[in-house]
Amino acid sequence: MIFFFETHSNPIGQRRLNNTTCPHCQTLDSFISATFGSYAHFFWIPIFPISKSRVAECSHCKKTYTKNEFTDQMLRSLEKEDSINQSKRPI
Ligand SMILES: [Zn+2]
Repeated sequence: MIFFFETHSNPIGQRRLNNTTCPHCQTLDSFISATFGSYAHFFWIPIFPISKSRVAECSHCKKTYTKNEFTDQMLRSLEKEDSINQSKRPI
């Protein structure tokens, strides 16, 4: 019998980061944050989450930051947005 077991990363949430300034181009409120969830799949059906990663892209200069490159301002805004809207998960 053959089993198909694999992992995939899918976008599970996107939001604008308010009250932030891009360190590269100094544009206000230009960040869009995206959350990617990595899930184990069994026969192409997501079974359980493995990890979650976050990136933010400046919509003006297109520079992308990973979560460990976020400024304190970006982290505070992300925490505030997370408290309002949680990222969704597959069933
Ligand atoms: Zn920028």
